[in-house]
Amino acid sequence: MNNGIIAQKQETSTEVAESESVTECEEIEDEESCFQEIEILLEHGISLADINNLKKNGINTIKGVQMCMRKKLTEIEGFNKEKIESLKEICCQISLSNAFMTASEVSFQRKQLFKLSTGSKALDKLLGGGVEAMSITEVFGEFRCGKTQLSHTLCVTAQMPGPNGYIGGKVIFIDTEHTFRPNRLKSIAERYHLDENTVLDNILYARAYNSEHQSELLNIVGCKLHEEAGVFKLLIIDSIMALFRVDYSGRGEIFDRQHKLGQMMSRLQKISEEYNIAIFITNQIASDFKSPDLATRPVGGNILAHASTTRIALTKGEGAIRIAKLLDSPDLEEAEVQFLITSGGIDDVKD
Ligand code: ATP
Ligand code: MG
Repeated sequence: MNNGIIAQKQETSTEVAESESVTECEEIEDEESCFQEIEILLEHGISLADINNLKKNGINTIKGVQMCMRKKLTEIEGFNKEKIESLKEICCQISLSNAFMTASEVSFQRKQLFKLSTGSKALDKLLGGGVEAMSITEVFGEFRCGKTQLSHTLCVTAQMPGPNGYIGGKVIFIDTEHTFRPNRLKSIAERYHLDENTVLDNILYARAYNSEHQSELLNIVGCKLHEEAGVFKLLIIDSIMALFRVDYSGRGEIFDRQHKLGQMMSRLQKISEEYNIAIFITNQIASDFKSPDLATRPVGGNILAHASTTRIALTKGEGAIRIAKLLDSPDLEEAEVQFLITSGGIDDVKD
């Protein structure tokens, strides 16, 4: 692949840790699939050239069109106002029957959501079972508090079978700080008795060089998730704000930065729902030594606070111990647990 995301090894394998219930789960996923290929628009008079232009902009499904604002569509080559109206109308008709669902159906769907283990049972419990699909989980904290270690651990645990018939899947890792380390993955794979080469093969890695590039990579991610539908289960961005902080400086640029950040977060939320994947982002804290309160606050302001579904603050404890505090969740109470950073990744503190 030469599109910005490289596999750790070229010939990627879809092999993940085996599960007895593979066929059963595939059937469930097929039944529930909300993907409606954008190619279906050909039958409704939309040209192949227009479909390809939508795809180039990361729009691969009918849901993707519906998630995109009209003003955004005007930026796409070949799309004028009339064409956009007709496209929206067609998509509306196509998805008429599943535009609404009952709360019972939502409840059923939520029960099916997979949750990825963090490596620590205590931390999983804090998160109501783990890092949840179809939402954005954010961890923030000062340097060395374990954000990157947690990201690496999730890269491995996401490949393993879990509750609810989860069979494991591939991972995409966007690295903005150049701290991704395959060697760490090998140690974590060893802890779980997994084949290290298979584990590396199942992780697609991209280095983002600036915040615009970070955003462009998300378009490629959209295409990748579409091409290999159902194969990827986790997208990690470590860290979400590092490049924004460099690219936009001072009060004069804050509006611009927040606007772009908001767009990116909205894109991430849509990706998580459209492709049924978990999104895990790390974040830094403000470095204002004059006011200690501010110095423990995550950067990204209200935009990030509202966009992240679940927020966890990490702080350092004694030695390798770290403390995770759940600060914001739509359905979990605020609480705090300890965990450990080990050579095998994130683990529980042993008594
Ligand atoms: P930053 O904000 O600088 O990116 P971070 O929160 O991402 O920091 P991590 O890299 O996740 O920090 O964690 C660093 C901690 O992990 C250090 O305390 C380091 O000693 C520990 N660590 C790194 N590798 C190992 C290992 N192989 N075995 C045990 N602990 C490790
Ligand atoms: Mg880090």
